[in-house]
Amino acid sequence: MDHQDTIVALSTPPGISALAVIRLSGKESITLADKIFKGKKLSDQPSHTLHFGKITEDDTVIDEVVIGIFKAPHSYTGEHIVEISTHGSSFIVQKIIRLFIDLGARAAGAGEFTQRAFLNGKFDLSQAEAVADLIAADSDSAHRAAMNHMRGGFSAEIKKLREELIHFASLIELELDFAEENVQFANRNELTGLILSLRDHLLHLKSSFRLGNVIRHGVTTVIAGRPNAGKSTLLNALLNEERAIVSEIPGTTRDAIEEVVNIDGVLFRLIDTAGIREATDVIEKLGVEKTMEKISQSTVLLYVFDVNEMDREELLNELSKLPQGKAAVVVTGNKIDAQRNNNLENQYLNIENLIFVSAKQKIHLDFLRKKLVSLVAGDAQAGDKTIVTNVRHYEALSKADQALEDVFHSLQSDASGELFAADIRRALNALGEITGEVTTEDILGSIFSKFCIGK
Ligand code: GDP
Repeated sequence: MDHQDTIVALSTPPGISALAVIRLSGKESITLADKIFKGKKLSDQPSHTLHFGKITEDDTVIDEVVIGIFKAPHSYTGEHIVEISTHGSSFIVQKIIRLFIDLGARAAGAGEFTQRAFLNGKFDLSQAEAVADLIAADSDSAHRAAMNHMRGGFSAEIKKLREELIHFASLIELELDFAEENVQFANRNELTGLILSLRDHLLHLKSSFRLGNVIRHGVTTVIAGRPNAGKSTLLNALLNEERAIVSEIPGTTRDAIEEVVNIDGVLFRLIDTAGIREATDVIEKLGVEKTMEKISQSTVLLYVFDVNEMDREELLNELSKLPQGKAAVVVTGNKIDAQRNNNLENQYLNIENLIFVSAKQKIHLDFLRKKLVSLVAGDAQAGDKTIVTNVRHYEALSKADQALEDVFHSLQSDASGELFAADIRRALNALGEITGEVTTEDILGSIFSKFCIGK
């Protein structure tokens, strides 16, 4: 891809709207705009100014527009940028973009504006990726994490780790140059200490990914239990609207229904499932199997039972039949409104994460919501410490950690610098991949192709 030419794209969603914004970036963008803009000469205007005028083709007015100009290097991409606000008509937008292409601009590829910003050093790779995350963020927590990354919080952390390592790497490389003399420039104890502290830091970052993943994609939460336990009613109560079918006939919710609910800024993907019971026909059996499969893939399992129907022994027995996956289980005793015995806690002693509610009467649902959030987000939610949200970053951190582990073992066995110099470099490369200090066309291609065109 040529990074020198002038690119053009619609930066707002296609279709009819009040306004649409067409953006150009590149050396020629202001000169090209001057060729079709009637009002004043844009090239003579200062940077960061807005100008009203007409866009014309052969003396026919196509639209009245407002043009913003941002001159290199003080723009999003670091190049000359022109932003044209037109009326939001696809016809006008297409016409103007075509005029620019006829004049020599090129239609921008996905993420190309942001890619140029990266190539021009406006921000590093993880910040560029955060731009896409910010656009996609649909909850408080996702927005907060993306904002932190975009501002460079995470990048700064990675750069610092890398710099600490670079210092030692250069001493080790120096030892290699003086191999015959058998000298040690890098203090082995200090290096071991550094490796340990770096690995500790990487471990924290890596473990934040569980939360990061949840923040970015939502928490898959399967609601399961016997037929008639009140699963659909609970789902509806959590959603605060009647969406799933509630019925008196056991086993009617056969297929999985997924609904998204935002609890305290965390998205939960609630999946209602067929009731778990001894199946009497083939279709029901399939339903139960599917439920078990869903449970094993979920992050949270919301197990619902009717407190009027199941005692402690039976409950434990039912719980033991569930797939033993990685899911955190919340046990929800439902229908407490219809319960005569008000000593429920004593009836179900020593059952972890147990909450009593009435789905129908909406009693104690707040406890349940709090429990759900605390299970996945813990108290990490409030703080502004770095959370890894991107699988590419997670993989790079893992690679760096493995390399450092190898260095650590070499140091333990008193191996010579020659043996672990390559491992240190491997760690440096892995960390550099995150910020883009070390990068390949492949990495860049796969990152920016996920952006929308015009960004
Ligand atoms: P599912 O098969 O587990 O999805 O159960 P449903 O949500 O369809 O509920 C089965 C029956 O239990 C319905 O008649 C609900 O109205 C009733 N039910 C659900 N929750 C409660 C509750 O908290 N209290 C009472 N008294 N009835 C409930």
